[in-house]
Amino acid sequence: MTIDFIEVSLVDIALTRPYSISYKTTSAIQNLIVKIVLNNGLYGLGAASVSKHVVGIDTSESYENAVLFKNELTGKNLSTLFQNINLIDQQLARDPGSKAAYNIALHDVFCKASNISLGKFLGNKISSLPTSITVGIKGIKETISEVEEYCASGFTHIKVKLGQQIDIDIERIIKLQERFKNSVVIRVDANQGWSFDETLKFFNSIKNIELIEQPLKVERPEENLSFPKELKKIIALDESIVTPADAVKYSAQNYAGIYNIKLMKCGGISAAREIASTALAKGIDLMWGCNDESIISISAALNAALAYPNTKYLDLDGSLDLVKDVVKGGFVIKKGVMSPVSAPGLGVTLI
Ligand SMILES: [Mg+2]
Repeated sequence: MTIDFIEVSLVDIALTRPYSISYKTTSAIQNLIVKIVLNNGLYGLGAASVSKHVVGIDTSESYENAVLFKNELTGKNLSTLFQNINLIDQQLARDPGSKAAYNIALHDVFCKASNISLGKFLGNKISSLPTSITVGIKGIKETISEVEEYCASGFTHIKVKLGQQIDIDIERIIKLQERFKNSVVIRVDANQGWSFDETLKFFNSIKNIELIEQPLKVERPEENLSFPKELKKIIALDESIVTPADAVKYSAQNYAGIYNIKLMKCGGISAAREIASTALAKGIDLMWGCNDESIISISAALNAALAYPNTKYLDLDGSLDLVKDVVKGGFVIKKGVMSPVSAPGLGVTLI
């Protein structure tokens, strides 16, 4: 089987619930979609939605790169999966968006042609996990009413975006804990918004926090080393862990106990697995996160996540707020617990 042709498109998608984090507000996104079609008519889908703030490139630039790359892969034999992946890695090295979309599409079509699910292909070790659902930066009243809504739909894990003003951040979480007691697990994401002392203040003021994502600026990683051991255990590096090389760098010393892997930072399933393997070897737990993305790439991340025994946290709520998507299927989510479908490949169907 050979790759007959490739379609690349850029789709504008509005969000049902615009949100703010420490450095931006988002109300709509662009999604890059790659469709790889074989000479027997089978096809595989990949998608990407990247954050310029994190990876230095936006989705429309990724789209242009993806269009230029089409001819490189057309005509290649499907069986040479790893050669094809290497080609993508070389040609699209500086663009995690187009790299991720092609990498995911190639995995999807390869698994479909082999008649197995992506989960089986990757060797799933975990069948399902709860995902958190994210509340952006907003007032206490609005935060509580949004969490009430999520609890009513069965979610048990809530991620709260913080990182603007430490005392307000602490108050928001105290009020949330007072209202919900132990009925929800709360994790927070400061998106680089805190100083060393503010992070310590938060840690000393709040009990029962599941994890703290990226409190410090990417530019000052060495400050992580001075945190107390108990705090480091629950710090998840996010913006600091973009590529497999970052995982190697930060696992040389005890910077943090958790790495947040996103296919949209590292460029797809293969690079994510390199990061995950480094973390596994070093005893570091994994959180799998996302941007606002299609079900296509969320399903790819879910299957990659469940293939690692050190995966402890899912934060894969990125397709839940899209006004529309290009596919359905991929995974089921029941009371906040995500499990992939068992259909071949990603198990997604074009709408
Ligand atoms: Mg984060």
